[in-house]
Amino acid sequence: MANYYQPEIETASREKILEIQNEKIVKQVKHVYENVEYYRNLMDEKGVKPEDIKSVDDIKKLPFLTKADLRDAYPYGLLGTDIKNCVRIQSTSGTTGKRVVAFYTQNDIDIWEECCARAIVAVGGTNEDVCQVCYGYGLFTGGPGLNGGSHKVGCLTLPMSSGNTDRQIQFMMDLGSTIICCTPSYAAYIGETLAEKGYKPEDNKLKAGIFGAEPWTEEMRRGIEKSLGIKAYDIYGLTETSGPGVSFECEEQTGMHINEDHFYAEIIDPETGEVLPEGSKGELVFTSLDKEGFPLLRYRTRDICVLSREKCSCGRTHVKMSKPMGRSDDMLIIRGVNVFPSQIETVLLNEGYTPNYQIIVDRVNNSDTLDVNVELTPEQFSDKVGDIEARERALEGAMRTMLGIGPKVHLLPPKSVVRSEGKAVRVIDNRKLHD
Ligand code: ADP
Ligand code: ZN
Repeated sequence: MANYYQPEIETASREKILEIQNEKIVKQVKHVYENVEYYRNLMDEKGVKPEDIKSVDDIKKLPFLTKADLRDAYPYGLLGTDIKNCVRIQSTSGTTGKRVVAFYTQNDIDIWEECCARAIVAVGGTNEDVCQVCYGYGLFTGGPGLNGGSHKVGCLTLPMSSGNTDRQIQFMMDLGSTIICCTPSYAAYIGETLAEKGYKPEDNKLKAGIFGAEPWTEEMRRGIEKSLGIKAYDIYGLTETSGPGVSFECEEQTGMHINEDHFYAEIIDPETGEVLPEGSKGELVFTSLDKEGFPLLRYRTRDICVLSREKCSCGRTHVKMSKPMGRSDDMLIIRGVNVFPSQIETVLLNEGYTPNYQIIVDRVNNSDTLDVNVELTPEQFSDKVGDIEARERALEGAMRTMLGIGPKVHLLPPKSVVRSEGKAVRVIDNRKLHD
């Protein structure tokens, strides 16, 4: 298949990529130092001058930026250019607290859309495709980013936004959508709804889906591929660096190529801030090499993953990041044990359950409790009560093996867990109410 949107960059040699990065970082650090007082103060505190940064190897000398800095500097403190040069703002979803806003010049938007175009072409997109974008439009970056990328590729773009699932399906069928872009949880919901309406996976014209904005497991990928009859590809990004398209999956489906001509990635130890060698699991840190409106240097994403420079069969040379297993702040500490929601999802899907679940954490008599509500399919629900109880015990056992602690599992009737049209809310942590 090997299709590239910008082959000269996407398959450039390591030396060429380094040359681009080194040239951009020197300019970018100088620009930020001169224009962003907030970051200049951080650099001064650390005793780093722009002249100290001669190549990307020197990036490790720079101070980090965190979400707390973004909130401190809200709204204009990290602006990298005169506001009159900016043409757009977007905002985070606020999944983990107060929203932050990011600014874009027209050049920033063009680059962002090119990154999304690379992702669409990587899944086989051309100007003959009908691309249905059902990420939310508006302040959230998902809709605008993929919409722009789809235009650049020349696909017939359906700017559906999220929700109104009946209409999504009607347009998908009537207009013959071939590519669909949304959150994986919404893709699963659309697949479920299609089946309920009596459609088989081969009844739609879809060939590929580009799913991101939230963590999802390989088990979830297989479920979506089956229910929609497509190949499901991952895409990653965050508002702070532009939006989706910072990295994207190719046909190999073994991690996402980071657009290294625009973003420099590091993996650090989240406790010490030390840069870790390739192949280590740690927190992903990004430096935007050419953003003008919101040029963040060494931004700590809190996403936990691994980078790999292993040769990819697609011919792309850009470094790959593994699927983030969730953010460091998604990690639940339950009775001293670290638990990621994605581990629970893996067990559920492996045991034949649907991805319709919710995790409830609480504290009773000073001890943490972990409850997992899991919805049954109509077939599973028709089992006898005794069978359902046996299923609950079996799931608790499988989870204890995976997590090291045992949750309480509650199997619920069909349709009792609310479906997601955007980012799914998987965890309700009531402990915060008591703190
Ligand atoms: P918020 O931080 O409020 O959710 P964003 O909408 O900017 O705001 O979301 C960016 C975050 O979404 C990332 O930092 C990451 O945690 C998550 N994310 C985005 N894409 C993926 C993906 N493909 N896999 C896992 N997590 C993802
Ligand atoms: Zn590849």
